[in-house]
Amino acid sequence: MAYKGKNRIVHILESEDYGKTVTVFGWVRTKRESKNVGFITLNDGSTIQNLQVVIEGSSMNEALMARIHSGASLKITGELIPSPGQGQKVELKAGAVEILGEANPDEYPLQPKKHSLEFLREIAHLRFRTNTFGAITRVRHAMIFAIHKFFNDRGFYNIHTPIITASDAEGAGEMFRVTTLPSLNPPLNETGAVDFTRDFFGRETNLTVSGQLEAELAALAMSLVYTFGPTFRAENSNTSRHLAEFWMIEPEMAFYDIHDNMDLAEDLLKYLLNYALEHCPDDLDFLSKRQQDEEKNKKQEDRSPMELIEKLKFVIDNKFERISYTEAYEILKNSNHNKKKKFQFPVHEWGIDLQSEHERYLVEKHFGKPVILIDYPKKIKAFYMRVNDDDQTVRAMDILFPQIGEIVGGSQREERLGKLLARMKETGIPEKQMWWYLETRKFGSVPHSGFGLGFERMMLFVTGMGNIRDVIPFPRTPLNAEF
Ligand code: ATP
Ligand code: MN
Repeated sequence: MAYKGKNRIVHILESEDYGKTVTVFGWVRTKRESKNVGFITLNDGSTIQNLQVVIEGSSMNEALMARIHSGASLKITGELIPSPGQGQKVELKAGAVEILGEANPDEYPLQPKKHSLEFLREIAHLRFRTNTFGAITRVRHAMIFAIHKFFNDRGFYNIHTPIITASDAEGAGEMFRVTTLPSLNPPLNETGAVDFTRDFFGRETNLTVSGQLEAELAALAMSLVYTFGPTFRAENSNTSRHLAEFWMIEPEMAFYDIHDNMDLAEDLLKYLLNYALEHCPDDLDFLSKRQQDEEKNKKQEDRSPMELIEKLKFVIDNKFERISYTEAYEILKNSNHNKKKKFQFPVHEWGIDLQSEHERYLVEKHFGKPVILIDYPKKIKAFYMRVNDDDQTVRAMDILFPQIGEIVGGSQREERLGKLLARMKETGIPEKQMWWYLETRKFGSVPHSGFGLGFERMMLFVTGMGNIRDVIPFPRTPLNAEF
């Protein structure tokens, strides 16, 4: 077929090889026809721009044209000519037009008009063919690539941590079970519970909620490592920021304290935004316009105060505010918002978990920029976070972003065996099951830190999209696993 390199539409549009004969491939976005001339816009996914194709003279064949509609796939050989139209340098004067696959206009659900994002979720198998999802797909790829580049350039090793896991240390009750036991009449033990010793792995197993614990094992030998894999949470929270299956970047660094950890996370986020600005200008431009269109339908107070590209630059240019949970608590408690009872969850007692509305208030209303919160009360954080000298708070760090809330959750880890054991007892984590984790604290333990960046939360921010279902190709959410 010869679809390689130079004849992808992104390259053709950049070339000025007027007079050259090329063969292009792609899907029809629009078709217009007048008496002796037809116009087709063709897209092959390589760019947000379409290639304009002109069909006239001996190439213009009414029977053929009648079979070409939006969504059809074509192979066209023709001559590159300067474009009289605005916005592109070059267009294609068609010679031979071959239809690879027709698309019946009475059935094809994507018409050249604006479709709602909700409707597009119902046709996720076709939504790659829209401008919006083409742009998101390219930006998503650029971000994946940039993440690996960022860590590789800094000497980190990528670790594949297991997807099936027997440890439920992080989120008991929120996991998806993996089993080969029959769902009807599974074997039971003496107590009448399911007998997992007869299951595939001889024990109860689940899909992982995080690769952190295993990444820690690697960091305590390789020093700098990261995982970037799928994670699963069976939380039944139908929000615009939660998926049941999402991707997480989890670096883990030996010899890093909480401050080194914050520096790395801030660097990573800024690096990714920079990378997107540099490598995806056309797509971001499109997404910015899309967002501005969408904003018009929103209430004034829900509108984003900044245009997308301006917003990305603003985050790159400003140091994130770093404050303690206690300081944040005071700000929230004393805010007019709280006094006027405008929070759904009032802020009245030190120790409460911060809700998304509180996080967004700090970021959007109080500081007007990303915020890193550290030193959370230990009772609302996981057992592996390092306990501070006050014995009340732990060295946790959450990064809060505008419109998103929490984008990163991390901590300096508890490296002292005695303190770790005490915390496990306090939080009811079974010691026996975690013997392998504990051994790293017995043998050559070192201060170390890490964090988890939710990839789709990051994608929400970079693309300006409002719903996490629209930044992953095939979202998994409660009651939704169609495609
Ligand atoms: P939240 O409080 O927002 O539900 P969390 O505290 O449960 O998040 P962590 O366990 O700290 O999240 O996970 C690390 C990161 O993974 C979060 O900062 C967020 O970016 C992302 N994340 C967590 N849960 C989800 C989810 N259900 N869907 C998408 N991303 C998520
Ligand atoms: Mn968290």
